[in-house]
Amino acid sequence: MGTRQQTGTAAAHHVVILGAGYAGMAAAVQLAARVKQRDDVRVTLVNAQERFTERMRLHMTATGQQLAELSIPQLLEGTGARFVRGWVTAVDPDAKTVRIDDDRVLSYDTLVYGLGGVADTAAVPGAEDHAYTLSSAQDAELLADRLARLTEGTVVVAGSGLTGVESAAEIAERHPRLDVVLLGRQEPGAAMTAKARKYVRAALDRLGVRVRAGVEVVKVLPGAVELAGGETLAADAVLWTSGTRTSPLAAAAGLAVDGYGRIVTDPALRSVSHPDVYAIGDAAAIRQGYGVMHGTCQGGMPTGVHAALSIHRALDGKQPKAFRFGYYHTPVSLGRGDAVVQFTRPDDSPRRICLTGRLAVRYKETVTASPWPTYGRMKKMPASGAIWPRGGRFSRVREVR
Ligand SMILES: Cc1cc2nc3c(=O)[nH]c(=O)nc-3n(C[C@H](O)[C@H](O)[C@H](O)COP(=O)(O)OP(=O)(O)OC[C@H]3O[C@@H](n4cnc5c(N)ncnc54)[C@H](O)[C@@H]3O)c2cc1C
Repeated sequence: MGTRQQTGTAAAHHVVILGAGYAGMAAAVQLAARVKQRDDVRVTLVNAQERFTERMRLHMTATGQQLAELSIPQLLEGTGARFVRGWVTAVDPDAKTVRIDDDRVLSYDTLVYGLGGVADTAAVPGAEDHAYTLSSAQDAELLADRLARLTEGTVVVAGSGLTGVESAAEIAERHPRLDVVLLGRQEPGAAMTAKARKYVRAALDRLGVRVRAGVEVVKVLPGAVELAGGETLAADAVLWTSGTRTSPLAAAAGLAVDGYGRIVTDPALRSVSHPDVYAIGDAAAIRQGYGVMHGTCQGGMPTGVHAALSIHRALDGKQPKAFRFGYYHTPVSLGRGDAVVQFTRPDDSPRRICLTGRLAVRYKETVTASPWPTYGRMKKMPASGAIWPRGGRFSRVREVR
């Protein structure tokens, strides 16, 4: 049993936010900005690293590109929120405590759980041991190191979803001496219109990426992958991008979770089993009229802001409002010089309109670069971060809960 760290005065309501990803940062800055003048509320943000991980750029990290140094403690300066660096090892929702690095314990009154997700390397045997992932900046750096050392050979990108497409394109562009093979069940850009899909395929062809759609990787071996049907493909490096899973902490804590380990929320983003726990971002299973949201930054940041607004309302004795969100785009990089942006309906189905080429590159970069300045603006003007498309009739949930 480690030392118990006392936080806050007896009177102060302590909000602890776990995870400083896109969603957790949004929650911390939004809430801290709103309670800055109050001495009856304290906000603590816990994260594994002091440096903000731009997850949307991890395929760039994986190809050796240097990203900006974004310091979380520096961003929080002046907000009154406290930053705790550490690895969360357990949550006890009955005792209302969080264990960090096994030996520190934080008590909370309200918890915001935003620990994100990682690549699902448990999906097939061998992936955990023999495949690289983009689960964290450190994981991406390991792949960068491996790719830099390869003078020739084959890189298999397993998973033809958008992370797989972006990664295959980036690797092929940065390392033209390597053969890049993109494997997956679906055609790259499967959820896009035929026009956008064709554009993606042409870009991958131009970069020399060999695409094999309609295949399933069933095993990752040292130096190879095995496909359903028994075929084996030699690989000098395998990047696993197929599927995501969430931290087992929520399920271990006894919080109600779905089949992916995500915390099931009520309309206000509170855990259905433990209403003093809010769940946000990739770690939350949030139902909208069109179904349960899937993990994106475009939806994750609003969940963080909404949780902060709900907590702020609850502190004032008001009822939190229902969260509503509608998707609006799917921006996909195809190396540094090309991209495609598929505009979508609120339920994420594709609209006819898409951007391609230089215009799409500029759009994608603007979107990717926007979270950090958004947090900066929110410090001074919290309302500026509370604007997002609500999804209209698409997101309205009709059933009575
Ligand atoms: C290559 C790539 C490209 C992407 N492109 C897009 C895009 O164009 N648009 C889009 O909308 N989405 C995109 N995504 C998805 C997007 O990045 C995620 O949906 C988003 O990061 C989710 O935000 P989050 O805050 O829930 O989690 P994360 O951003 O994953 O943050 C979770 C944080 O919690 C920390 N953490 C986790 N476990 C612990 C622990 N036990 N203790 C302490 N800290 C912990 C992590 O270190 C991290 O800082 C992309 C993802 C990838 C991998």
